[in-house]
Amino acid sequence: QVHGQGGVRFQNWAKTYGSCPELYFQPTSVEEVREILEMARQRGKRVKVVGGGHSPSDIACTDDFMIQMGKMNRILKVDKEKQQVTVEGGIFLSDLNIELSKHGLALANLGAVSEVAAAGVIGTGTHNTGIKHGILPTQVVALSLLTASGDVLECSESVNADIFQAARLHLGCLGVVLTVTFQCVPQFHLHEVAFPSTLTEVLDHLEDHLKRSQYFRFLWFPHSENVSVIYQDPTNKPPSSSASWFWDYAVGYYLLEFLLWISTFVPSLVCWINRFFFWLLFSSRVENVAVSYKIFNYECRFKQHVQDWAIPIEKTKEALLELKAALENNPKMVAHYPVEVRFARGDGIWLSPCFQRDSCYMNIIMYRPYGKNVPRLNYWLTYEGIMKKYGGRPHWAKAHSCTRKDFEKMYPAFPKFCSVREKLDPTGMFLNTYLEKVFY
Ligand SMILES: Cc1cc2nc3c(=O)[nH]c(=O)nc-3n(C[C@H](O)[C@H](O)[C@H](O)COP(=O)(O)OP(=O)(O)OC[C@H]3O[C@@H](n4cnc5c(N)ncnc54)[C@H](O)[C@@H]3O)c2cc1C
Repeated sequence: QVHGQGGVRFQNWAKTYGSCPELYFQPTSVEEVREILEMARQRGKRVKVVGGGHSPSDIACTDDFMIQMGKMNRILKVDKEKQQVTVEGGIFLSDLNIELSKHGLALANLGAVSEVAAAGVIGTGTHNTGIKHGILPTQVVALSLLTASGDVLECSESVNADIFQAARLHLGCLGVVLTVTFQCVPQFHLHEVAFPSTLTEVLDHLEDHLKRSQYFRFLWFPHSENVSVIYQDPTNKPPSSSASWFWDYAVGYYLLEFLLWISTFVPSLVCWINRFFFWLLFSSRVENVAVSYKIFNYECRFKQHVQDWAIPIEKTKEALLELKAALENNPKMVAHYPVEVRFARGDGIWLSPCFQRDSCYMNIIMYRPYGKNVPRLNYWLTYEGIMKKYGGRPHWAKAHSCTRKDFEKMYPAFPKFCSVREKLDPTGMFLNTYLEKVFY
């Protein structure tokens, strides 16, 4: 009975990847999802489930059947005693944050945006920063999965434990994630302090910064020594904000986009733009206080290409200095600001980039001013080369050039994940082009 729509064009948030699914579904119940899988089986079609469509790669693309989970977005249970919440996989974290705060709860850590689905963020291993905190999938204590065969599997540390270890970072290839149970914490406010520094200072005192602030990260402005250090820590102070439309939008968005567009004709301008905007927007101390999710989230205004690899934390300094030297030695290779450097605790999730090691994530970007692509191949390859040299693992959501051979070397538990995937989806119903590169 379920109805699929033809002629829908899917595009990710940055409009860098897209596809035209033959049929596009927005189911409202498990029964409907099961019917879609049955129809796909009968017609020999593949299926891709999509959440918020934010992944900056083709991981969520398909030309066959696409299931958008936006209508399966209920909160199913709040266990105040255990401080756990069970939600349907399609719920956006933006809705979950608000609902949790009504119960005096919150997620302990979040990425930069919340217009993303619960099942989507764990699908790709979304992370934020804070060396005492793991990536978002580490907050998951249970989930349920509708597999290609139409069975529902409940998974946790104690039930279907192997499948749980795989499904906490599932890549969308194990089945349809129906529900997710998150371990929460009591609601909290954060005090954010941003202040200027230099790359040398931050790298020489990395340990101190990591100890000084629970959610420490920094932004490096390529082609310069400039750094903006950002500390975020729980506080009892009353909310306060230093937001200003003029500086945030008129300067930080409209003027910047215009200048970046001009620089597509004169690439050497990028170096001056990075320095000028650091001086304009990041050279003085700024403080904000708000409920945690409003500080964790920030507005990503520009459509952009990104790469974000996790390297062992002890390699942070060497890798970043090597990237800086590569830019200095190749004046034609330009890099937009910022390079965002974040940290995460090691974990035991099979396909987590932080598997068994504390990690540093180094996120590089190239904006697309007015939708125009800026040449980035040289920068991208140089960055990937450095990340590989230091034992890096790419963020699953973000485009990379790795294939199965690379992942076999990077992930000790890769064969275990493959064997769970092959057992749950022997015909490859949940594969697409991105995943074929990962598994074949
Ligand atoms: C502006 C912006 C800011 C970002 N900030 C960060 C950040 O701070 N940190 C970070 O780590 N990442 C960040 N990302 C990346 C983002 O967090 C991930 O791409 C995340 O996976 C997006 O969630 P989504 O719901 O949009 O997933 P989608 O892109 O829709 O899907 C991701 C994967 O999950 C699968 N999937 C989704 N729902 C289901 C389901 N119910 N069952 C089975 N599979 C499913 C899809 O098939 C796909 O494989 C950012 C992206 C953007 C565009």
